Amino acid sequence: MPEPLTPGELLTLDRQHVWHPYGPMPGKAAPLLVESASGVRLRLAEPVEGQDELVDGMSSWWSAVHGYNHPVLNDAAHGQLERMSHVMFGGLTHEPAVRLAKRLVDISPEPLQHVFLADSGSVSVEVAVKMCLQYWRSLGKPRKQRLLTWRGGYHGDTWQPMSVCDPDGGMHELWQGALPRQIFADAPPAGFDAAPDEAYAAHLRELIGRHAEELAAVIVEPVVQGAGGMSFHSPAYLRVLREACDEHGVLLVFDEIATGFGRTGALFAAEHAGVAPDVMCLGKALTGGYLTLAATLCTTAVADGISRGALPVLAHGPTFMGNPLAAAVADASISLLLSQDWGQEVKRIEAGLRNGLAAAADLPGVREVRVLGAIGVVQLDHEVDMAAATRAAVREGVWLRPFRDLIYTMPPYITGDDDVARICAAVCAAAREG
Ligand SMILES: *Cc1c(COP(=O)(O)O)cnc(C)c1O
Repeated sequence: MPEPLTPGELLTLDRQHVWHPYGPMPGKAAPLLVESASGVRLRLAEPVEGQDELVDGMSSWWSAVHGYNHPVLNDAAHGQLERMSHVMFGGLTHEPAVRLAKRLVDISPEPLQHVFLADSGSVSVEVAVKMCLQYWRSLGKPRKQRLLTWRGGYHGDTWQPMSVCDPDGGMHELWQGALPRQIFADAPPAGFDAAPDEAYAAHLRELIGRHAEELAAVIVEPVVQGAGGMSFHSPAYLRVLREACDEHGVLLVFDEIATGFGRTGALFAAEHAGVAPDVMCLGKALTGGYLTLAATLCTTAVADGISRGALPVLAHGPTFMGNPLAAAVADASISLLLSQDWGQEVKRIEAGLRNGLAAAADLPGVREVRVLGAIGVVQLDHEVDMAAATRAAVREGVWLRPFRDLIYTMPPYITGDDDVARICAAVCAAAREG
């Protein structure tokens, strides 16, 4: 065993050497040092604001839907580790990847039949884009290589995904001019239950029709736009996109990396609209938050198109493609999800969030409170003071990670009613002090 390091030493080394998400070097705000995690609780290496444990209101960015240190997922990981942690996927295959792919095909919208296993959400979006462009190239239409999306979206941090993130005010504003120039529709009108806006639907149809010659695909996050602004829209617009894409010969990609596996109250958000995309990306909750893994699913038409082209292969193959350890845990995580009444748990959390966050609506500086499935959002009328908001939440014994003008939560599905109430109290405290 290496010499143990004190919490102070670890934090100093962290600051000197380790990049954190969207952070400067050296780091400015000191991160909290987590020693272990179990159930819905993160155990800190040393108390902060009088708390040595925090209820995780973030599910580690949408992923830890079953909570931490779950015996079923631990068993799956241990069992697979004893057999092999990894083998290359070129020329070799294995049961975890095959089982997982079959399961994803079984539970996803019917037309999706083929699975590319990638190592992160962003890479799965890169693969989705590559599939779409290559499909049209194979069909002798190389001009169809642009993407259309709506504003307010987020699809990841690598190059193609960045090009379809919201170009204004988003995290990727810096790269305007360097990224491929995509086509942006207005952001969808807000509100899951809002009556569909005919003028907006016409705007989508018009834009897709006008650019059809150069469009490979439309890519959107269905129903919930996550890191682009935590906003919800009517599923009706997904039907509009499906129709317009079919009419004009454009592929439709749903990025369900955040919404997949029940978060919005449907197993996949596309189900709210009753439409299937041509290509779908999954990630985040895929392994229950244990390991990094993502998947790009496509229809047989897309796969056939690619495989009949001049280069009759999908030219992509990450070193850790189909990682057995991650695939085994993912399969166990999906089994675990489907073995329980997850829809009821999400509904229960939704009711708890509605109840507990209602009070936030009356706080000064709060613009809107919205809840959908196991997602609760308090939007302020100003930029959150991250340090103050985080401190307020920690004081309530809860881990939150606000951004921009948003304080939000998407707790693990196993979060009990008392802990949901506690998270809500922390969101309200963060809104008051942030
Ligand atoms: C998080 C996210 C991604 C990127 O996934 P990573 O695993 O972080 O690369 C892409 N799309 C959506 C909708 C996401 O929420």
